Amino acid sequence: LERPETAPSRIARLRAKLAASSNPFGKALFNILAKDHLSETDWEDVEDTLLLADVGAEASAQLVDELRTDSRITGTSDPAQVREALRVKLLDLVGTGMDRRLNAVKEGANRPSVIIMVGVNGTGKTTTAGKLARLFVADDKSVMLGAADTFRAAAADQLQTWGAKVGVPVVRADKDGADPASVAFEAAAKAKEQDADVLIIDTAGRLQNKANLMDELGKIRRVTEKNLPVDEVLLVLDATTGQNGMAQAKVFAEAIGITGVVLTKLDGSAKGGIVVSVQKELGVPVKLVGLGEGPDDLAPFDPEGFVDGILA
Ligand code: GDP
Repeated sequence: LERPETAPSRIARLRAKLAASSNPFGKALFNILAKDHLSETDWEDVEDTLLLADVGAEASAQLVDELRTDSRITGTSDPAQVREALRVKLLDLVGTGMDRRLNAVKEGANRPSVIIMVGVNGTGKTTTAGKLARLFVADDKSVMLGAADTFRAAAADQLQTWGAKVGVPVVRADKDGADPASVAFEAAAKAKEQDADVLIIDTAGRLQNKANLMDELGKIRRVTEKNLPVDEVLLVLDATTGQNGMAQAKVFAEAIGITGVVLTKLDGSAKGGIVVSVQKELGVPVKLVGLGEGPDDLAPFDPEGFVDGILA
């Protein structure tokens, strides 16, 4: 078993990766803001660029209105100044003040801490559960994974592969189609019995039937809580789906309640602007970002690095 990468090395590597990823959004803004003077069309282009980056219609319009008003008041449309003003406003929107720590690592956290992963299939839920287990292992925590996505047989196999990769035991059903809540119950019982530090439960994310999804997730939560309190419900959102992710997010927030978001596939997308909408509309922070398919490609969300990336 390969040793997990150290946190500073991982963060430096992932930052470099993010900076090197294609960012048409940053380039477009750079081109506009490199001009001597901003015309009306340039302002519209700034707004369109923010929209393209999924910052959301309302927030984009508001940002540009404020910047334009400021520049009228001060009588300057010097792109360098506008750029700095935009940086400050984006930082404000991205919410630098939000507490993004995982509840499992906070002072006085329950032990074993329970994290439930939710999200639509294909967003990267199972992969993120594996990577998250790895982060805790790197921190010398004992971790257990629970495969409560019993709908697809392949899902438990995939989680088991991740468990083997990161050196963490996986609790799964004996047979396909078992009750997901019973797996969650058993995983919580085992985590308690074996005195684990963290239990991460992977769930199914079929959105076709909202009532079913709500029933299933609600039951997983209630049944888990018979053994252990749930500290965290992390919603996994795929950054490349942009604003469509918001509709999904609302369904899950309603179904089970969420304490944070993991934004995956940021390595393949310049569309990170959804961070703004998620936090504003759901009132929960983006806590982690996925920057690739490998076991060490998960990092804490860094608002400053993120905004600098947008403006790069
Ligand atoms: P699930 O159905 O939500 O459990 O999704 P999976 O974990 O199976 O992931 C779906 C696909 O997305 C897989 O091919 C993953 O390797 C890939 N994936 C997950 N997270 C990331 C990420 O942060 N970056 C990239 N590039 N791919 C990712």
